Amino acid sequence: MSAVPVKPLPPGATLGVMGGGQLGRMFVHAAQQLGYRTAVLDADEASPAGTVSHHHVRTGYLDEAGLSQLAAVAQAITTEFENVPAAALTRLAQHCPVAPGADAVAIAQDRALEKAHFTRCGVPCAPHAVIETPQQLQAVADHLLPGVLKTARLGYDGKGQVRIADREALARAWDELKRVPCVLEKLLPLASECSVVVARGADGEMVHLPVQHNLHRGGILAVTEVVEGRVPEATAKQAIEATRAIAQGLSYVGVLCVEFFLLQDGSLVVNEMAPRPHNSGHWSLDGADVSQFDLQVRAMAGLPLVAPRQHSAAIMLNLLGDLWFAGGREQAPPWREVLALPGAHLHLYGKTEARPGRKMGHLTLTAADAATVRATALRACALLGLEPF
Ligand code: ADP
Ligand code: MG
Repeated sequence: MSAVPVKPLPPGATLGVMGGGQLGRMFVHAAQQLGYRTAVLDADEASPAGTVSHHHVRTGYLDEAGLSQLAAVAQAITTEFENVPAAALTRLAQHCPVAPGADAVAIAQDRALEKAHFTRCGVPCAPHAVIETPQQLQAVADHLLPGVLKTARLGYDGKGQVRIADREALARAWDELKRVPCVLEKLLPLASECSVVVARGADGEMVHLPVQHNLHRGGILAVTEVVEGRVPEATAKQAIEATRAIAQGLSYVGVLCVEFFLLQDGSLVVNEMAPRPHNSGHWSLDGADVSQFDLQVRAMAGLPLVAPRQHSAAIMLNLLGDLWFAGGREQAPPWREVLALPGAHLHLYGKTEARPGRKMGHLTLTAADAATVRATALRACALLGLEPF
């Protein structure tokens, strides 16, 4: 089966998505805006996407009956969750177009394969070593320390990684990570971080969002700024070129996000990629005329990809569950005051239980210029008890 339908899918067709989190929810909203019906596969009864979709298949990702049910209703399928087993996508692709394809997703799921792909595409990544055996652990070169030991698979939001100072700590950390396959990366002197979202169609046509400046706290994205001058022009150009090469090298179809480190010496190093829309691209819902979710729908349905135009300076603040516990007792943040800010776009994902570190929603501030949007974002931070940036 080809990656996308031979003819563009007409409104009324059903688009399927593997995974029912907030990314799936925003995908469903974009699909429904264009008149599509939607189907979500996610085991969670209360999944953010399942609760707003026409169909919700409540099974695990490898459940035969569930996959058959999804394939029976959907005319094209995408994914919102990076760790959907590639085998499930291969199975679905026997019945209908699946974008991105299982091969690309399998590479993005594995840090070792991912780094090999970056290198193949001529894009530099952090010096690293793959550690799967005690011999490989012993053989680690001195210049990789201090470093960050990351599980090759299933890490997210800083989980599954340990910073290590020396060989002794490295051995301890690998034990802690249950000796699963890992990648040891050299700890790099970061000046800042940025990311690029691209969408690629089956015909190889590519469009991208402007480069996003990202601030992480505790391994989790906290703030994304997309304002003029935030990322040096030469760096932005380089990041876009690298992202296009990475997507091209995968013969990718769909939305792909690539994360970069900007080092203190001004050089750009690729960190990782996500085979789906990305938290750092959420601002595009409110600050651009085409969002990353619109692009995901268009790419999988075989519709034209148009270059997004940023119409507003935008800053996105992630709203983690911690906000619900400020002041020592559980209560909702002061939405009324937040919504009184000019250019405030509040997105809540409908999750019933707030937990520290859980992504509950995001707030995008938009304005005509960089100074104004920053001032509003700082006011939002003060209202929400978020650390200023
Ligand atoms: P995740 O899959 O959890 O997002 P990342 O590999 O992107 O994992 O790491 C999360 C964050 O940790 C990065 O955004 C960066 O801030 C920091 N980090 C990761 N690797 C390195 C490194 N090699 N050097 C310095 N900082 C790093
Ligand atoms: Mg990351």
